[in-house]
Formats: sequence, C-alpha cells, structure tokens
Amino acid sequence: MSDNDFRPAQMIKERLQDRLRSEGSLSVAAYMAEALFHPMAGFYATKDPLGAANDFITAPEISQMFGELLGLWAAECWMQMGAPSRFELIELGPGTGRMMSDMLRAGRAAPGFLDAVHVTLVEASPALKMVQGQTLANAPVPVHWAKDFEKTPSGPAVVIGNEFLDCLPIRQAVRHQGQWRERVVTLHPEDQDRFVFGLGPMLSDSDIGYIAPALRKSEDGALVELRPGDQQQMEQLANRFKRDPSYALFVDYGSSKPETGDTLQAIRAHQKVDPLDAPGTADLTAWVDFDRLLRLGLDAGLAAFGPMTQGEFLTELGIEQRAAVLSKSVDESGQARLKRQMHRLVSPEDMGELFKLAAFSSDGLPPAPGIAPFSR
Ligand code: SAH
Repeated sequence: MSDNDFRPAQMIKERLQDRLRSEGSLSVAAYMAEALFHPMAGFYATKDPLGAANDFITAPEISQMFGELLGLWAAECWMQMGAPSRFELIELGPGTGRMMSDMLRAGRAAPGFLDAVHVTLVEASPALKMVQGQTLANAPVPVHWAKDFEKTPSGPAVVIGNEFLDCLPIRQAVRHQGQWRERVVTLHPEDQDRFVFGLGPMLSDSDIGYIAPALRKSEDGALVELRPGDQQQMEQLANRFKRDPSYALFVDYGSSKPETGDTLQAIRAHQKVDPLDAPGTADLTAWVDFDRLLRLGLDAGLAAFGPMTQGEFLTELGIEQRAAVLSKSVDESGQARLKRQMHRLVSPEDMGELFKLAAFSSDGLPPAPGIAPFSR
C-alpha cells in the first residue's frame, strides 16, 4: 500500500470500528456501502480503479468494439421507439466514460441519432465523474450528470449499465438450525483491529420471500444472497418506463439460475483479497442473480429479455464483422490485438459466458433487439 492510500483506508477502518462498537454488528450491505461509497475515503469515492494499471479491467476498457456495438444496439432501440426527436441515453455507473464515448461514435452511423440523443451519466463517485469529463470532453454531443437515476430527465430513454449492478451492496443470509439468519460483520472478539463475519438476527418473512422458492429449504450452512439494490433499480425503472416508452440493458457477471453460495469478492490491483481486509482499498462486488433480476422486472410490470451470454450477444451484434472492418486500417500487430480483444470478450473461457445480460422494456414496445424474451 502506498502512503497515499494509507490515510483514507485508516479513516474507513476507524469509522467502521466506531460503528461496530456502538451498533454491535453491521449487515454485509452496510459494510459494502461504507467501503465503496464513504464520501471521503470509499473505494469509488477516492480514485479511478479502472484499467490495466489499476485495480480491475472491464469490457469497454478491453476494446472499443464493446461500446460501439452497444451504441448500435441503443440506436436500434431508438428506431424501434419510432425515432423520437429527443430521447435520453442514460448510463448507470459509467466508469471512465470510455463506453459512452465509443457508443456515441458508433451512433453516427444511424442518421438522426446524434441530433435526438440527450446523454446523462449517473455516477456516485466524484473522482470518476472527473475522469468521465475528460474522456468525453470532445464528445459529439454535450454530456450531463445526475447523482442518481431518479434525478435524470424524463422522456423516452435507453438505459445502460455495464458492471453496475455487481457493486450495489448485497445482503447475505445463512441457513442456521433450520432458520435464515442475516450474515453480519463484527469486530473480532480478541483482536478489535480485525473484522470477522458472524451470525446476526433472523430474517423477516418478507426477506425470506425474496429467496427463490427452490432455495428456501436449503441445508444448514447454505448461504443465499439478497440484492436490495436490484429490487430498487427495477422498481425505479418500472415507474419511469410506465410513463415513457423505454429500453434498458444490464451487462454483468453472474448466474442465470438461482444458486446458493458466497460470491462477495474483493479485488485489489487485479488480485483477489479478503473482503474484510483494509476496507476502502479494494473493489467489493457480488454476482448478479439474473433469474431474480428478470423476475423482479416482470413483477414490476416490465417486459423482460434474457438472460443471454455476452459471447452470444456480441456475436449476434456483429463483433466479428466489426473486427474485420477495423483490421483493414491497422498493421499486423494491430490485427492480432483486435483478435485478442474479441477473444477476451466472447470466448467462454474468458468473459463470454460468465458475463451475461438482461434487457427490459416498457410494455407494448417491440422486443429488445437481439435478445429472446425471458420465460419464467
Ligand atoms: N461501467 C464501467 C464502470 C464499472 S465500475 C465499466 O464497465 O468500465 C462501477 C461504476 O458504477 C463506477 O463508475 C461506480 O462509481 C459506479 N457506481 C456504483 N454504484 C453506484 C451508485 N449507486 N450510483 C451511481 N454510480 C454507482
């Protein structure tokens, strides 16, 4: 750890220790929220963690083709809405702004798209907002920011989030003596300098109702994750989509079926580390439960599409053709690089299968382009 990282990390640790001394324990969600979004010292609040030299790398940072293909997808949605003369392109958790920059460049291919588009980035981190401003300084259209989704301008919209849902705080439930208990974070009884997991209160009936029926009677020791952030996001989406015809797309890593298991992970400088060690210095994420996400969308009144793997989706959108076009204007090493990028994004051994997507639309619009409807 460098000296620069030291003080914010110490600040978060002390704040969590204070809270734990007075509150006894914190849910995993409360712990995640502090570690990631503490306004002065949280992981996202303080730095740009994205890219090869930093903590982790995402699809838009691997290749421009990712954002370009999603830009064409967004343009297709806009046309399916009847090409309204103004529409909102909203990105949730835009990271460095790279994906939006690539989307807008690709959007030039659809006549009228750039005249109609009004871009809003929803970003919680002041540090990343600055990076986005730099990346998009020369964007073909002005870019606006909102602190949360509810504050974005109304109107027909295409909403996109890549690796956004995975960093929303999760709760964890553990089956213990035939009952569901909340998994909590506490101070180690003998070493108050360390955080440990423990068993907290019993879950309420409505919390248990969140758990997929097939998992509700799991064996003792089983762990199930609850994603209140997804639920809130789907409700907000549905409220908005009832008023204005819109589409949404979420790309993330996760499972397509309900499963038990602890997926909370911490990544620092491309290495997996202990999620309870040095909070604020590592990215904390958990797998998205696509089956649950899609059901939440349907229950909220949205039309739902997917899940589909990233590999299949990018192939369907024409990544091979895009790579062939880009290959024409680069030398041999550039061509090899494009091949490697494509392979990373689509091959099942790499991101192609673990990464999946789900799409949603207002009822009554044509189906989301390229993705089959979800069936319960
Ligand atoms: N989409 C980008 C970045 C992924 S990292 C990419 O694929 O490269 C997650 C992003 O979501 C970061 O920009 C983070 O600051 C943002 N974020 C996480 N939770 C958020 C929230 N509740 N509201 C707004 N932004 C959030």
